[in-house]
Amino acid sequence: MVMAEPLLAVRGLSVAYAGVPAVRGIDLDVARGEVVALVGANGAGKTTILSAISGTVGFGGGRIGAGRVLLEGQDVTGRPAHRLVALGLSHVPEGREILARLTVAENLDLGAYQRSDRAAVAADVEVVYERFPILGQRRHQLAGSLSGGEQQMLAISRGLLGRPRLLLLDEPSLGLAPQAVRAVFEEVDRIRRAGTTVLLVEQNARQALALADRGYVLETGSIVLAGTGAELSRNERVIDAYLGLPPELGANAAG
Ligand code: ATP
Repeated sequence: MVMAEPLLAVRGLSVAYAGVPAVRGIDLDVARGEVVALVGANGAGKTTILSAISGTVGFGGGRIGAGRVLLEGQDVTGRPAHRLVALGLSHVPEGREILARLTVAENLDLGAYQRSDRAAVAADVEVVYERFPILGQRRHQLAGSLSGGEQQMLAISRGLLGRPRLLLLDEPSLGLAPQAVRAVFEEVDRIRRAGTTVLLVEQNARQALALADRGYVLETGSIVLAGTGAELSRNERVIDAYLGLPPELGANAAG
């Protein structure tokens, strides 16, 4: 049988900041239709991997020292972010990065800046407002007035307005109240059912692995474990390092 080509393949990727290695020769695949979770502690290199994939790592002073990023087999390593957007990649960065001084509607519009099908964009925006009525009610208000959970839904919805084939989500549950965390994971599940492939970075390993089809565990820039979400959730090393904490000791154990 011929193996189908993954939507995203990362091969031997190394990234350094001012010569200091942050990611050390990692390999990672995401197949069409999957949710793949990348979990690991603070500073393990998760954000660096996503930004290397999306062409934004240079903005933070990072440099790809080795390796390749392949989108449907096409080598896109080091391409500028806007060209990757045009190829179907959408990156929702950590901290949401919604533009607080723009309205909800203006933020959503930014997500569709490369589309010329304005009628279809308007229809997609209406779907967002139906899905998240609070965003519809506040469409003309500044995005900065939304709660953290609402801002995250806005950021994800904005990412989807580019109609990506691959959505990169960086810590979407970070800093949110438990109910908003649940809503974020439900939204990721809905996105998968709607047919969009997701690479999800999370410190909230328990919920990320419960949702993901497959996962990778990253420690100090290297992938130390890979498997299905279920396998990793049962893995003793993962339980000890990421799932065993009582809730009061951190977001890892939330939920
Ligand atoms: P977090 O969850 O805290 O964001 P992470 O797993 O996403 O962690 P990265 O942010 O990718 O990890 O950081 C990986 C390593 O690279 C860390 O040692 C970090 O200090 C370093 N690093 C990240 N960004 C920069 C930067 N802009 N300049 C210098 N070093 C950086």
